[in-house]
Amino acid sequence: MDFLWLFLTYVTFLIVGIFAFCFLSERSRTSLDRALHRAGAILSLVLPAWLPRRYKSCFQTRNGAFVILHLILDILVFAEYSWEVLGYCLELEISRPFIFLPYICISVNLYFFYRCCAADPGIVNKKNEASYVQLYEYDCILFHPEQQCPTCQITKPARSKHCRVCGCCIHRFDHHCVWVNNCIGGLNIRYFLIYLISLTLTAVSLAAVIMAFLLKVVLLSHMMSAAYIDPEGHEQMVNIAFIIQHLFLTFPRIVFTLGFLGILVLLLGGYSSFLLYLCLSNQTTNEWHKQKGRSLALDSRKGYSKGLWGNIQEIFQPPICHKKDR
Ligand SMILES: [Zn+2]
Ligand SMILES: [Zn+2]
Repeated sequence: MDFLWLFLTYVTFLIVGIFAFCFLSERSRTSLDRALHRAGAILSLVLPAWLPRRYKSCFQTRNGAFVILHLILDILVFAEYSWEVLGYCLELEISRPFIFLPYICISVNLYFFYRCCAADPGIVNKKNEASYVQLYEYDCILFHPEQQCPTCQITKPARSKHCRVCGCCIHRFDHHCVWVNNCIGGLNIRYFLIYLISLTLTAVSLAAVIMAFLLKVVLLSHMMSAAYIDPEGHEQMVNIAFIIQHLFLTFPRIVFTLGFLGILVLLLGGYSSFLLYLCLSNQTTNEWHKQKGRSLALDSRKGYSKGLWGNIQEIFQPPICHKKDR
């Protein structure tokens, strides 16, 4: 079962890599993040000098590196799907609406990906500062009145935060997302939410079609009732591990793509659910992080929830006009 070890090693590296990347790209201030930064400081003593500069330019300044990487991953997955899986599915007469569903999902996703990249997240400047300040009350726990942003030279509205990557204050700041090379704030959180859900649905629909195709291959070849001769010369009935090995060796790229999609579904599904919970309870990721460290003060904090319907309205109809001040 050498291939299984190889496959498990590949999946483990992929999971560790994606998790490490998520923690780094979200720039969270968790204990793991701090540990990674400490490890980075130690590594910088032995690594070449250009590496920290490249890291800084990737994560701490606005650039399109991850937007391009995102598009490359989309192209690779859909090229594999269109090149191999689609042809087999058509031959096996799998339902056409089912096999073309991923293309509809990715079309919706790419539109909202563009909107996330291009939309104003809610940049606060001297012109609109007064109207943003009136939007939310200061809770005097997480947000205090009369607090100035030393960089933008403005009064910070409640729920806003200065983004060091974009170099400006953002209304109802959620987080800075390297994948869309933009901040996620009060004016584009609706696009980000739909983008994330449609990306999850794209991964789910692709994985579902691939699984249906592999299942059909197994059923049509009567693999479940087959037998094989083991190295000792005994006849053995095939089991699940044998079938996975057989599929892996027959369709290696398709099985790898399925493994990659499976991990994506878990990560994206988890993150989409978390963001949906934050939206429905009218919290931002920034507030959620801040609250974690101040649990004692939470009892006296009312929060900004307006009830379920009010919170949904606030996400999809932000209470301020979209102004192109960027
Ligand atoms: Zn600022
Ligand atoms: Zn930003």
